[in-house]
Amino acid sequence: MNAFFSADYVLPVSGDAVKNGVVEIMDNGTVVDIYAPDNPKLSGQAIETHKGIITPGFVNAHCHLELSHMKGVIPKNTGLAPFLQQVIAFRAGDEQKIKQAMQAADKQMHENGIVAVGDHANTAISAAVKAESNIHYHTFVEVLGFEPQLADQKFAEATAVAGQFGDISTSLTAHAPYSVSKELFKLLNEEALRQQKPLSIHNQESEEENKLFRYKSGQFLNFYRTLGKDITDFKAQARNSLQTFLAYLSPSTPVLSVHNTYTSPKDIFFVERQGRDVTWCFCPNANLYIEGTLPRIPNFIHYPQKITIGTDSLASNDRLCILSELKTIHEHFPDLQLTETIKWATINGAQVLGIADHYGTLESGKAPGLNLLTNTNGLAITPETTVVRLV
Ligand SMILES: [Zn+2]
Repeated sequence: MNAFFSADYVLPVSGDAVKNGVVEIMDNGTVVDIYAPDNPKLSGQAIETHKGIITPGFVNAHCHLELSHMKGVIPKNTGLAPFLQQVIAFRAGDEQKIKQAMQAADKQMHENGIVAVGDHANTAISAAVKAESNIHYHTFVEVLGFEPQLADQKFAEATAVAGQFGDISTSLTAHAPYSVSKELFKLLNEEALRQQKPLSIHNQESEEENKLFRYKSGQFLNFYRTLGKDITDFKAQARNSLQTFLAYLSPSTPVLSVHNTYTSPKDIFFVERQGRDVTWCFCPNANLYIEGTLPRIPNFIHYPQKITIGTDSLASNDRLCILSELKTIHEHFPDLQLTETIKWATINGAQVLGIADHYGTLESGKAPGLNLLTNTNGLAITPETTVVRLV
């Protein structure tokens, strides 16, 4: 039997908010339609009525499920290079414990109204959890390799990891501008064009990354030294990392640029002027955790490039919750409207992951999940807002 859900507002994301709107959902979660409260089709129907705002399920555009066992391991505000050193030092662990932590993280995301995830992986350890999950995962298998001569080998190793995911949607991606050589970027560019999947790249998460690319100076030199990497071949580029790596890619290669904490207005304009197929992904709570700062989000919103939201991993976040990321965004940038940011949390992520025919909006024929946001104020969330899964 079909179910009918109503709240103070229904935000379909595909269109305007409907005050006291009603959503009709089939048993299998498929949306039938959205009605205004006075629609005659509703007469005699049992309607489950709530206070708050009904939205589609959330899409988490950036996570690392396989780091779930690292919750609370790394202290806050270390800065990126020391953070990465600690991830490398402490990520190994008992396989059973890692699997249990991933299962708990997957459950937490489901309870927090997340229906789809763009998830980075270095290994196939998350494959079994993903195969059993109610959440749709697209796995970006990360390739790292700063040494040009290792490009072919690193690419082949990542291809083998991707092969272990079986039916789960996967593609290869570059970890970050500072961890991937120009040669490896070129291989990944060809692969992204072939698969028509975005390269999901950690970008400008730290000002040290810009210092490395502009001047070949800063904390990353120490990072490479500690890892025993020889970067003699790397030359200062006199421009930021984003402008450097985009030059290695074809103009039409889709890119999901993650973090962008130190992306300058010039970088944003560069992307726009080149008409690049870039989608920005913000992970504000992870930025506060690692660097104690946030990207200047208002700088990004007047351009055609779309915005998505990610949680990053439990190594740099206390929870995997898109609503918590939205709260941080609205707390720091109070001029933003939920009617805009809800697109970042739903349809834009679905589009970049290639699943917008199923997720991201409340439109008939889709089964995008149904969230209730409580303790709202009109069409705004408040610090007290919680998310409840209705479907
Ligand atoms: Zn990440």
